[in-house]
Amino acid sequence: MHRLALLAVVLLAACTPAERPEQPLEGVAGGAAEDGVPAESRSAGPYVLALGTVQDGGLPHAACSGANCIAARQDPGRRRLIASLAIVLPESRRVYLIDASPDIREQLDRLGGVRGAPAGRVDRAPIDGVFLTHAHIGHYLGLAFFGFEAIHTRNLPVYSTARMGEFLRQNGPWSQLVRFGNVELIAIDPSQPVELDQGVRVTALPVPHRDEYADTVGFLIEGPGRSILYVPDTDSWSAWDPELPERLASVDVALLDGSFYSIAEMPGRSVEEVGHPLIPDSMDLLEGMVANGGIEVMFTHLNHSNPALDPASSEHAEIIRRGFSVLADGQRLSL
Ligand SMILES: [Zn+2]
Ligand SMILES: [Zn+2]
Repeated sequence: MHRLALLAVVLLAACTPAERPEQPLEGVAGGAAEDGVPAESRSAGPYVLALGTVQDGGLPHAACSGANCIAARQDPGRRRLIASLAIVLPESRRVYLIDASPDIREQLDRLGGVRGAPAGRVDRAPIDGVFLTHAHIGHYLGLAFFGFEAIHTRNLPVYSTARMGEFLRQNGPWSQLVRFGNVELIAIDPSQPVELDQGVRVTALPVPHRDEYADTVGFLIEGPGRSILYVPDTDSWSAWDPELPERLASVDVALLDGSFYSIAEMPGRSVEEVGHPLIPDSMDLLEGMVANGGIEVMFTHLNHSNPALDPASSEHAEIIRRGFSVLADGQRLSL
């Protein structure tokens, strides 16, 4: 046995693995949200929780003195975490992440009340699985915290495309997660939904995007009440086949790539070079569907340069005026 692996076994024996208390959640009937999870959410059906809503570099962005970043450093209310969702199944006390962001430490804290963590020690099973969209830093670097140096999970299911799984298996430090059994890689086929609990299922959807290390998917999350499509990163909608409106025909809520509002955010670059749909273009494409109540559309994965991050901006007002919205950190969407 590898020496580190042996040490891991010893450490695990010393720290009893997390056990799930079987008693029902406290505070189901209401009361304070002392753990950050709204009390009313505990008694409800399955839901999606936005754990973060900005692009891979975060807000404030590393080493940036732009207006949004200065505002976020001065006012914690303007701060946002990197794009990630949780799928919460309150009845079975299960939680799945969509993407593991570099902000995962704080994002796991925000899930503290859902599963009932053991007191006074590391919860070595804080979630039930992770679905990965792709291999850009904002979407999978957080996986590292499930490894030996940190949480040290056992066989945490990680759902991804076969190519993404192969990338993780073949490249350090991710390969160590596999070798030590911290994660169990599960290849998902876009045509095959993954059935969770409480009537929720998750289906991967191939998405055109810069695919340097692995391919890219979005996820359709279908619950007993509604379906939510999550596409945080994509090339321009013109690269989609079938086209976006057709793809959204049977979707209730779409959480879409809102990285940039205007090409002016990237001086010297063309729309083609930017490689993301601009928010006004997305609104042009979907305005009819939104206006007739066919779908609710929210933008997420906003770049730190995006003026719509400022709730007092004219760009934010324009999004609201046209019937769209910007997904907020902590926002809960029933399934
Ligand atoms: Zn991204
Ligand atoms: Zn910035």
